[in-house]
Amino acid sequence: MSELVSTRIRTTAAKLGLPHLAESLNQYDGRADEAKMGYLDFLDLVLAEELAIRDDRRFRQGLRLSKLPHHKTLDEYDFAFQSELDPRKIKDLATLAFVEAKANAALLGPPGVGKTHIAVALSVAACRAGFSVYFTTLDDMVRQLKVAEAAGRLNSKLRTYLRPGVLVVDEVGYQPLERAEANLVFQVISKRYEKGSIILTSNKTFSEWGQVFGDEVLATAILDRLPHHCDVVSINGPSYRLKNRLAAIERDTNVA
Ligand code: ADP
Ligand code: MG
Repeated sequence: MSELVSTRIRTTAAKLGLPHLAESLNQYDGRADEAKMGYLDFLDLVLAEELAIRDDRRFRQGLRLSKLPHHKTLDEYDFAFQSELDPRKIKDLATLAFVEAKANAALLGPPGVGKTHIAVALSVAACRAGFSVYFTTLDDMVRQLKVAEAAGRLNSKLRTYLRPGVLVVDEVGYQPLERAEANLVFQVISKRYEKGSIILTSNKTFSEWGQVFGDEVLATAILDRLPHHCDVVSINGPSYRLKNRLAAIERDTNVA
């Protein structure tokens, strides 16, 4: 390959936003020679590799922006431990059909059953599929919105929660909200309605949400929108956090 041509390819690749191609031109050239590739196979290789690199970069950037607390996957979730949970329900969610449909998913159950783990795993999958994701706890979202409202920046802060394709609202119901706080949550939920997905986790059933939102009218308005187009998965089983402790107790009892 002449110096002139390789320089021109590097310049063109940079203009097209393909820095990897610019960097690995010699390597590509070598690989094509070695495998005695035809022109089309070579073009196919270059384009496929550039796309894979771009997708991976976007995925990693998306994960950084998502504020997910960790990046656990469904492969790390032990379905055998949670025997009453039908794995098919979670695997259906993992197809992300609900995200495509801008519908919602609710994971309900007591502490430690893996609600956050599953919400995160679905989010990582959504991120890999190219959806933007943002993770927050309900309390943190309310706190952020209140601060922004006090500073006259409510609309701009609301956009943080309205823009992503998937908004994860973790830990709904741990703290009861005041009326003004519930109203902020209502704004997020009503503005996202049929525009983007929410994955929420809660230790309360929907029927207990009246207490969470402190105001029956607001709770009803929220419940009017959320469970509509919502896959609800109730996980009613043992806490995984207690798993090792329970195993230890069992061991001790067997010894005694
Ligand atoms: P929750 O949100 O329901 O309180 P978490 O998702 O925070 O529970 O789970 C608590 C811890 O236990 C996390 O580290 C999570 O990864 C792990 N965990 C929960 N359930 C399972 C499971 N069935 N298999 C593997 N790890 C699990
Ligand atoms: Mg949790």
